[in-house]
Amino acid sequence: MVASRRLSCITLDLQPQSLNRKQTEMNIAVSGCGIAGTAVSHLLASAGHQVTIFEQAAQCQAIGAGIMLQPSGQVVLDRLGILDTIARQAAKLEGIEAFLLSGRPLIELNYGHLGDNHFAYGVHRGLLFQQLMNLCNQSDVRLHTSTQICDFRNDGNDVYVIDQHGTQHGPFDFLVAADGSRSRLRTAAKLGSRTIN
Ligand SMILES: Cc1cc2nc3c(=O)[nH]c(=O)nc-3n(C[C@H](O)[C@H](O)[C@H](O)COP(=O)(O)OP(=O)(O)OC[C@H]3O[C@@H](n4cnc5c(N)ncnc54)[C@H](O)[C@@H]3O)c2cc1C
Repeated sequence: MVASRRLSCITLDLQPQSLNRKQTEMNIAVSGCGIAGTAVSHLLASAGHQVTIFEQAAQCQAIGAGIMLQPSGQVVLDRLGILDTIARQAAKLEGIEAFLLSGRPLIELNYGHLGDNHFAYGVHRGLLFQQLMNLCNQSDVRLHTSTQICDFRNDGNDVYVIDQHGTQHGPFDFLVAADGSRSRLRTAAKLGSRTIN
């Protein structure tokens, strides 16, 4: 999400050689310290920006069950340099089949159909998160825990984030909403969305 008039778009080049290239430095706020928040924060910090994550939980820690790491996600993690570590502790999945109680197929996914050497990794979400968090720590990303971002204010030049106590943090040049599927910032920005329960 972009909430600054000065900048309407930012792109992230995932090529390793570009991660260390210093670009015009910006002060960037990221709401949410999950998989998306940690990954984008590390990439932005590696590109030379000053990044601050605001997380509502008291601690950013590895929680959750297993997820499937799809080929597209593997490409990103490879470029971040953490795929091998994760792959060593993951299960390689060549396909998924799920059936309803009636026996009717629900999911039939064969990665081989996508091309040679395509598969998913079954991985613990905590392992993935911990690796991403380590990258953030190495790239000097700042972290504010116990801070729920409820709203933002854009004064036309800078953007400020507003927490659960009404305290304003900023100014920032750019704001990234990585606060999950029930994003408060998405609601605050009046972006269209549909929640499926
Ligand atoms: C049962 C289940 C199974 C899944 N299986 C898979 C799978 O196999 N493969 C796969 O790729 N994906 C899977 N997913 C989806 C995957 O978990 C999500 O896509 C992924 O976790 C999203 O990451 P995220 O960083 O966007 O959000 P989240 O992981 O939800 O992180 C959001 C972070 O923001 C914080 N936050 C929220 N609101 C605020 C706020 N207002 N202010 C500050 N911080 C805030 C939260 O505390 C959290 O730390 C599954 C999801 C579920 C529920």
